[in-house]
Amino acid sequence: RSRRENHSTVHHYASNLDIDYYRRYRLEQDLHYAIERDQLFLEYQPKVDSWTGKIIGLEALIRWQHPEWGRIPPNDFIPLAEESALHIAIGDWVVETACQAMINWSRAGAELVPISVNVSPKRFLIPGFEHQIEQALTTYKLSADLLELEITEAALIMDDPNISRTLEHLSQLGVRIALDDFGKGYSSMVYLQRYPINVIKIDRQFATHIVEDRKAQAIVKSILYMATEFNLAVIAEGIETLQQLEMFRSLNCPNIQGYLFSRPVSAEVMESFLLREVLYPIEACSLAPDTV
Ligand code: C2E
Ligand code: MG
Ligand code: MG
Ligand code: MG
Repeated sequence: RSRRENHSTVHHYASNLDIDYYRRYRLEQDLHYAIERDQLFLEYQPKVDSWTGKIIGLEALIRWQHPEWGRIPPNDFIPLAEESALHIAIGDWVVETACQAMINWSRAGAELVPISVNVSPKRFLIPGFEHQIEQALTTYKLSADLLELEITEAALIMDDPNISRTLEHLSQLGVRIALDDFGKGYSSMVYLQRYPINVIKIDRQFATHIVEDRKAQAIVKSILYMATEFNLAVIAEGIETLQQLEMFRSLNCPNIQGYLFSRPVSAEVMESFLLREVLYPIEACSLAPDTV
């Protein structure tokens, strides 16, 4: 399981693995102090209406500014956090920081749109998660329908009774649940039937191939059809080009997220988007439906 074991058998990679192992070890150690040393922060990426470009929601994405190694992407440290209890403290910090940002934007005069946070699959196994969410909503006086939780099917695949209980509780609170990276893994449709899912996020790989790959188009079409039948909201992730946008529009995909509109940005930049102090990219390059 561990990289140490691989080390002894794969000799020609040994030095790389050593570096890798050292870095991993250090990251794991340093992550314990990341919250108290104020090294974690959130960026926010808009979710937009495919036709108008209007911001309909935000996704909060965690970043770690490491004192020696600079910015560490979440895919490099979230898995480390998930190996210990650290993911709990980090997950709580993310929810609270996102709620605080919402309150700050609101005080600045912005009209709020729902914000989503990513939740580690393991978090659902820890009793009391729903109470932490409830507590945060109360503390920040935030309406439950302004908070969305993004989970991956890794959370559902565990098939633990605690998970469905927690999801039911959250959904009764009015918190929305999004199934992230849909189409990437097993993507069992049974999950959509069994759990209180409100939103499907179509995995970025479909956007990557949608323009030239008819099979990708067909899969997206059937996801959209299913979403309609199940009465779910849908958003496509990872839209980078105009051609991809056009394709998703022609398939009638209502919502889009991706670098084409905006990369994840700081709370300050997001505030200026929400206050419409800066012309939002899609409007700036006039992607109104009749111009495309
Ligand atoms: P995700 O939730 O699927 O988030 C989407 C990822 O795609 C983000 O990467 C985002 O920056 C990136 N992205 C957005 N638009 C585009 C695009 O047009 N093109 C490309 N190439 N990429 C795009 P990021 O921020 O590096 O996050 C990676 C993953 O880390 C997330 O995938 C999520 O699974 C996880 N993650 C991020 N923040 C958190 C967090 O606060 N808690 C937990 N548990 N996981 C998190
Ligand atoms: Mg996500
Ligand atoms: Mg995703
Ligand atoms: Mg992902």
